[in-house]
Amino acid sequence: MEIAEQSTPAVGTVRARTSRISQVVTLIAVIVPPLGIVSAMGLLWGVAFHWVDVVVLLASYTVCAFGTTIGFHRYFSHKSFQSGPGVKAVLAILGCMTVQGPLTQWVTDHRKHHAFSDKEGDPHSPHAGHDGEGPWDAFRGFVHAHVGWMFSNMGMEQGREYGKDLYEDRLIRWIDRLYLVWVGLTLGIPFAIGYGLGGTRLGLEALVWGGLIRIFLYQHATFAVNSICHMFGRQDYRARDESRNNWLVAFMVFGEGWHNNHHAFPSSARHGLAWWQYDLSWWIIRGLEKVGLAWDVKLPTAEQMQRRRVAPVERPASEPASA
Ligand SMILES: [Zn+2]
Ligand SMILES: [Zn+2]
Repeated sequence: MEIAEQSTPAVGTVRARTSRISQVVTLIAVIVPPLGIVSAMGLLWGVAFHWVDVVVLLASYTVCAFGTTIGFHRYFSHKSFQSGPGVKAVLAILGCMTVQGPLTQWVTDHRKHHAFSDKEGDPHSPHAGHDGEGPWDAFRGFVHAHVGWMFSNMGMEQGREYGKDLYEDRLIRWIDRLYLVWVGLTLGIPFAIGYGLGGTRLGLEALVWGGLIRIFLYQHATFAVNSICHMFGRQDYRARDESRNNWLVAFMVFGEGWHNNHHAFPSSARHGLAWWQYDLSWWIIRGLEKVGLAWDVKLPTAEQMQRRRVAPVERPASEPASA
């Protein structure tokens, strides 16, 4: 299914590039905590970290992630495909199990992010409201986009404007009301698996690795879409903002790091638009379509993609850019 054309993009970005120093500082801030976890894994291997924990961690990370990448984001926020109530409920519940807030709150904030993208009103832009040029300003912008915005209500959406359809949906209201139940399950299931295999001790271990640490890791991977993917990476398509394609984030969040592609074609079910752009979430949607569980799957046409592609060569200033 072809996607509808966007209106002409507004010209003007906030900052051409982030300084080298701020890139280094940000990189350190991003790499150090995961390195800490990896070293803890090595130190505790065989003592308080076992194969069961690895399997529970990887499996729960992957399955719950699809709740936000395919569910909260591509299905609920952007309606990039259609599906029945069963798939809808499963995606909504899995999304809640990543502990990133109830569905309605997540989706309304995200829709607002697209509406204002890197301008005044965007709830989590590293640029809007952080206009300074120095590395400190860039770092503050990064922290705001990554986690800071959740501790202020600046630009947060109440849902009346961007979430009307969700408030009118009884299934979604019911799932959101039971949010704490899904949070309980996301911790309780790893504990139950560990407990079943090796009693209380293994249960607690699985709870820590497959529950708490998995939630932490996936949260920061998702937050990186808001922070890193609006600062570092390539801009292959013309969008109205600072969105970037970042392969590392795409790897960690199953295709969501092709964020410049996504801002250029928000309603596309596929984010990794080139054949080599890894997008596991898209493969799952494709699979759901093949077995009849997803339909009306939206994709940009080759012509739409061609029109928005950033030209590889410099255009003479006199030549108008075609929209
Ligand atoms: Zn974005
Ligand atoms: Zn989006």
